Parts: sequence; C-alpha cells; structure tokens
Amino acid sequence: MLKVNDINVFYGNIQALKGVSLEVNEGEVVTLIGANGAGKSTLLKTLSGLLKPKKGTIEYVGSSIAGKQAQSIVKAGISHVPEGRRVFANMTVEENLELGAYLRKDKDGIAKDLQRVFELFPRLLERRKQLSGTLSGGEQQMLAMGRAIMAKPKLLLLDEPSMGLAPLMVKTIFSIIREINKEGTTILLVEQNAHMALSVADRAYVIETGRIVLSGTAKELQETEEVKAAYLGGL
Ligand code: ATP
Repeated sequence: MLKVNDINVFYGNIQALKGVSLEVNEGEVVTLIGANGAGKSTLLKTLSGLLKPKKGTIEYVGSSIAGKQAQSIVKAGISHVPEGRRVFANMTVEENLELGAYLRKDKDGIAKDLQRVFELFPRLLERRKQLSGTLSGGEQQMLAMGRAIMAKPKLLLLDEPSMGLAPLMVKTIFSIIREINKEGTTILLVEQNAHMALSVADRAYVIETGRIVLSGTAKELQETEEVKAAYLGGL
C-alpha cells in the first residue's frame, strides 16, 4: 500500500532523514519506534505532504505522493494524527469531528462515520457539546483520532498517541487502535513507548538519528537484545 524508498529530508541544512525506506501493506499495523529526535515525526510529516523529500520516492497504492499537497494526500486516503493532538480548543467536540470530514461530500457516509466514532469513543459522545480545550489529555487524543477517522482514511498515521497519558488511558487508546485496524484501516504508528507499540503491531522498524537500523516482525524485534536493552528497559 505504501512504499517509501530511500528518502532524504532536510530542515535547512540539517538532515533529519537519511535514506529511509519502509513499507506498509494493506491491513497491517506497522510501528516505527525510536528515541527523541530520531526522525519519527519528520517521516509522518513527509508522508502527509507537510515536508518534501529532497531525494527518494514515496508510492501510495501505486502512485507517487512525494511532494504532493497535503490536501490531495488526505483525499487519496491518508490521515495524520499529529503529535500533541492539536484539536481546535474553542470548538466543541462535535465541531472538531465535523471538520475532519471537510473534504467529503457524502452526507450519509459522514453521519455514519460520526456514529462509528462515537461507538469507538463513547467518552466523546458524552462530551459532544463540550469545548475541546477543556478535555483531558486522553480525551483530546481520542478526539484527534476521531477527527482523522472522519476523513475516512485507508491509511492512518498516528504520531505518539501515548504521549503524556496515564497507563490506563494508554491501554484504552491502544485497544482502540487495534479495533480501528480490525475494522479495515491500515495503520502506521510512531511511538517512543516501544513496549505498547510492539504489542499492537504486526511489523516494526527502529529509527536512530534519521536511519532505519532494524526491522522485522514485532515479535522478532521484541526478542532482539538490542531492542530489549535500548527500548524495552532491559525487559
Ligand atoms: P520526538 O519523539 O522527540 O518527537 P522524533 O523522532 O519525532 O522525536 P523529529 O521531530 O522527526 O524527531 O526530529 C528529527 C530531527 O529533526 C531532530 O534532530 C530535530 O531537532 C530536527 N527538527 C525537527 N523539526 C525541525 C525544524 N522545524 N527545524 C529544524 N530542525 C528540526
């Protein structure tokens, strides 16, 4: 479904991605794990059209999307939930969700997906009239994910959904990620929480200072000494 081949991405003179290649197949949950500053968010921003690779190719269901406008990438079926959530604080939960569907015209489909989001996240249904800025961190994460689902993505890009959340909320969010995937959405998940990410993923890549250094099935990586020592706290 997605084929990233040998991309280089720069911020001015600083090279954040150095020859990164990875693949995501339809139906998979793939995770990209790595420390602070490794380049995880940069990769997602490049996939969703916010940054342009200087070199390399990005193929999504057979066509090139490298350097395309963010809006046409959303239209093609890729939705990005950025790090830090970024919901519109002065709008209600429901208004934020409706905004997620702004490129769609199928009213019936939109209404159906709103129902589906409320089924996945009952907490959002309870709070549909609440201003989003007053939601807890976990609720804002749910809202950001719900808003992305409203775009009806085939591929969902999630940037550190566990960040800053209490352990119980992290569990809830990850079980919803699994649910979304089961219902047919392919997922690329960027995480520092390698333990949770590897427990939900089919396959994984490890990124260090802009380079992919390891890849394999999530099970294989869970059992790799290097991953255990560096990312699983020696577990
Ligand atoms: P984190 O988990 O801390 O968010 P990350 O793996 O997502 O880390 P990136 O945000 O992709 O890392 O950053 C990769 C590198 O690019 C870092 O060295 C960072 O300082 C640099 N970088 C990111 N954004 C910018 C920017 N706007 N201008 C200059 N350098 C940047």
